[in-house]
Amino acid sequence: KTKNPNEPEFHQAVYEVAISLSLVMERHPEYRKEKILERMVEPERVIMFRVPWVDDQDEVQINRGFRIEMNSAIGPYKGGLRFHPSVNLGILKFLAFEQVFKNSLTSLPMGGGKGGSDFDPKGKSDAEVMRFCQSFMNELYRHIGPNTDVPAGDIGVGGREIGYLFGQYKRLKNEFTGVLTGKGLNWGGSLIRPEATGYGSVYFASEMLATRGETLEGKKCLVSGSGNVAQYTVEKILELGGKVLTLSDSNGYIYDEEGIDREKLNFVMDLKNNRRGRIKEYAEEFKNAVYTPADPGLDYNPLWNHKADCAFPSATQNEINGKDAQNLLKNGVYLISEGANMPCTPEAIDLFLDAKILYGPGKAANAGGVATSGLEMAQNSMRYSWTREEVDNRLRLIMKNIHKTCVDVAEKYGTPGNYVNGANIGGFIKVADAMIDQGIV
Ligand code: NDP
Repeated sequence: KTKNPNEPEFHQAVYEVAISLSLVMERHPEYRKEKILERMVEPERVIMFRVPWVDDQDEVQINRGFRIEMNSAIGPYKGGLRFHPSVNLGILKFLAFEQVFKNSLTSLPMGGGKGGSDFDPKGKSDAEVMRFCQSFMNELYRHIGPNTDVPAGDIGVGGREIGYLFGQYKRLKNEFTGVLTGKGLNWGGSLIRPEATGYGSVYFASEMLATRGETLEGKKCLVSGSGNVAQYTVEKILELGGKVLTLSDSNGYIYDEEGIDREKLNFVMDLKNNRRGRIKEYAEEFKNAVYTPADPGLDYNPLWNHKADCAFPSATQNEINGKDAQNLLKNGVYLISEGANMPCTPEAIDLFLDAKILYGPGKAANAGGVATSGLEMAQNSMRYSWTREEVDNRLRLIMKNIHKTCVDVAEKYGTPGNYVNGANIGGFIKVADAMIDQGIV
C-alpha cells in the first residue's frame, strides 16, 4: 500500500488473489522463491499521456490517457480501453491485473493489459468523440500492434469508438492489421464479438446451474447496467427461458414485474446504442415499469432488493456491497454471474461463499468477451471469417472449459465449489509457469 498509494481498487483485486494463492504457495514453494506474485503486481510497463482535443465550442480540452501493459508471459498484452470520468491509474491497474488471470483461463495465447481515459463520452457529439479518439491514438499507436498489444472496448468504448481509433491507427501506420478487437464486421470484426461477454456470462451461469441439475428456464433474474454486457446478458437469458426484471444506468434503475421481453429489449438497445438516452425513458415507454433514481445517500442499492433467483451484475466495480449481498440472499438469490469486473466488494463475496451459493467471479464468468476477441485475432491472422454458429460454438465451449477448470482446481486445492479459488489459481498457474520458463525478465 505504501508503494501504490491511492489505488484501493488495485489493492482489493490483488488481496483477493493473494488469499487464494496462499493455497498454491504451500504446495509449490518455487512460486514463492521466484517471487512470481511480487513480479505480477508490478506492471511490465505503464504509459500515461496527455490527450488534447478541441470541443464543438472551439475550446481546448485536456484528458489523461493510459495503457497498462501488465503481463506478456503467455501472449501479447490484451484488454479493453475504458472511457469514463472515474478512470485513474489504480482502477486501470486493477482491471489489468484481473485481465492477466482471465486471459489465461480462456486457454488462448493472450497476455494482460488495460487502458483508457478520464474522458466522458456522455453528452459529446460524434465529432467530439472522433477528435478525442484520434488524439488518443496519436500517442497510443506507437505502443501497440497485432503482436505487441491489442486493445478492445470496455465501459464507454463500443463500436463507434473502436472505429475512430482504428481509422487513426491505420492512417498513422499505413497498415491494415488486427491491432484492435471489437471492429466492425466489414472491416475485420468477428461475428458474436458484441454479444460475447453477455452471452458468455449466461453460458457460465448455465454451467453453474447444471452442477445442481437445473437450467435458467423460468428463473427470475436481476441485471444491472444497460450497456453492451447487460443488453446481451438479457438477450441470452430470454433465449434460455429466464425472466429479467431489472436494468440500470448511473442515474437509476427500472423494475419491470412483467419481465423485459424481446420487444422491450429492442427498445433498450435503440435507446442506449442509437439515441444514447437514459434508462428512465423505459418507464416512460412501458407504464407498468417502476423507475427509481439513484440515491447517493443510501448505503445499499435497491436494485438488489427484489425477490429473484439469479443476479447478473453488469455495470461496474463494487456495485454490490455487504448490505446488497444480504438483501440478495434474503430475497432468495442463489446464483451470481459477474458480467462486470469486480462488481462485488470483499464483504459481499465472503457472504456469498459462506452461504455456499453459486458465485461466478468476473475473471471466469465474463471471460467470453476477451475469448472472442482472441477468436477475432485468429480470424484476422488467417484473413478469414468464421460463421456466427462457428464463433458461438467456440465461445460456448470456452465457457464450458473455464467452468470445468474452476471446478476441478477448486476441488484439487481442497475448496470444492469455490469458483473464486478455482479462477484465481487456474489462471495463475499457467502464467506463473511461463514466467519461470522465461527467466527473470
Ligand atoms: P458500457 O459502457 O456499454 O455500459 C456500462 C453500463 O454500466 C452503463 O449502463 C453505465 O451507465 C453503467 N455504469 C458505468 N459506470 C457506472 C457507475 N460508476 N455507476 C453506475 N453505473 C455505471 O460498458 P460494458 O457493458 O462494456 O461494461 C460493463 C462492465 O462489464 C464493466 O465492468 C466492464 O469492465 C465489464 N466487461 C466488459 C467487457 C466487454 O466486452 N465490453 C468484457 C468483460 C468485462 P451510464 O450509461 O449511466 O454510465
